[in-house]
Amino acid sequence: MQTDRGESRSLTFKIVLGMSTGLAVGVLLNWIGISGWIENVVVDGLLHVGGSIFMASLKLLVVPLVFVSLVCGTAALDDVAKLGRVGAKTLGLYLVTTAIAVSLALIAATIVQPGAGFELDSDASFEVQEAPSLADVVIDLFPSNPIRAMAEGNMLQIIVFAGLFGLGLTLSGEPGKRLLKFFGDLNSVIMRLVMLLMSVAPYGVFCLVAKTFALQGFGAMVPLLQYFLLVLGVLALHALVTYPSLLRVLAGLNPIVFFRNMRDPIALAFSTASSNATLPVTLETVEHKLGVGNSIASFTIPLGATVNMDGTAIMQGVATGFIAQAYGIDLSPTDYLMVVLTATLASIGTAGVPGVGLIMLAMVLRQVNLPVEGIALVIGVDRLLDMVRTAVNVTGDASVSCIVAASEGQLSREIFRDESEGT
Ligand code: ASP
Repeated sequence: MQTDRGESRSLTFKIVLGMSTGLAVGVLLNWIGISGWIENVVVDGLLHVGGSIFMASLKLLVVPLVFVSLVCGTAALDDVAKLGRVGAKTLGLYLVTTAIAVSLALIAATIVQPGAGFELDSDASFEVQEAPSLADVVIDLFPSNPIRAMAEGNMLQIIVFAGLFGLGLTLSGEPGKRLLKFFGDLNSVIMRLVMLLMSVAPYGVFCLVAKTFALQGFGAMVPLLQYFLLVLGVLALHALVTYPSLLRVLAGLNPIVFFRNMRDPIALAFSTASSNATLPVTLETVEHKLGVGNSIASFTIPLGATVNMDGTAIMQGVATGFIAQAYGIDLSPTDYLMVVLTATLASIGTAGVPGVGLIMLAMVLRQVNLPVEGIALVIGVDRLLDMVRTAVNVTGDASVSCIVAASEGQLSREIFRDESEGT
């Protein structure tokens, strides 16, 4: 146990080292200029290939892990009423934390006024992708073909299918028990693969971060500095005040221990800018370092990675204020309320759509009659903000998972504390 903890600490150290060297190398390459062999061999060669292989290996574990882990989790839930209660609590908390996140963002944007006096560039343009209707989203929860759902990585459909399968397993007596043992073994093997992948994470993270910063000049940031810093400030406020308060008050947990145990998924979310790719590591951490029982973690974490995006909601709140100010349009109190409602519900409605943050922002802007082209104003710094807000998204999922588990008596406080001992 002691060595496990020691290994885990030194791995985190290596991941952070990979991230910081990646950042330094990326900034240096960008400063030298991306052309010739630097472009062909280093950025589009080594960094691109290394980063893509790492991302693909993380993603390849997502579908099998979610399915297997959730089948085990549902089969362990002894009654259906409990499933409904856990579902309602989880969704309720996801909605409340997102509403708090947008509200904080709107208040901050109103006080700081980052878009006041911003020079509008008339060439700005942005192609909007259509968001699906609410009816379609509900119908779409149910897969007509589970293999297709898995092939497409449709998380909500996989969750529904795995839940049904787990239920079938529990109701099947002896054959169900035999199969459940097999699923339990499969789960351990996949978790082992997650650990294996984590051992090469420092290199993967280095490639991803170096490539992003090599391509992403800081030039685009200068006119948007106020917007950029404001989004960062609200993200920090939400992560360091909202979640810790909820963890303390609703679950009696020490936030410092929580963050210490969450360092790997947070670092990975930052490097990959994808809650989905981080999912295997988040799930592993929530179960084995935060002590959340498998039946709660296997449901709350995949659901959260898909529908709970507080960091993204914060970007939307600040961006809405910024765009309104840049175009000189005043928002009424009703508009503010609409922004909170739309951004909160949009996070569920757009589940599973790629490039989700900007589609949600388009929906929010439309709702309050702001020009959707305004998105082009903030797109220049979006990639960098995406990294930080994904880290917040993942932290939010894990916080809610802990709170729900604590309320259901499914949180092992021993495991939660264990990781912090001796540090
Ligand atoms: N990259 C974010 C995530 O995967 C979503 C977004 O903000 O676009 O959590």
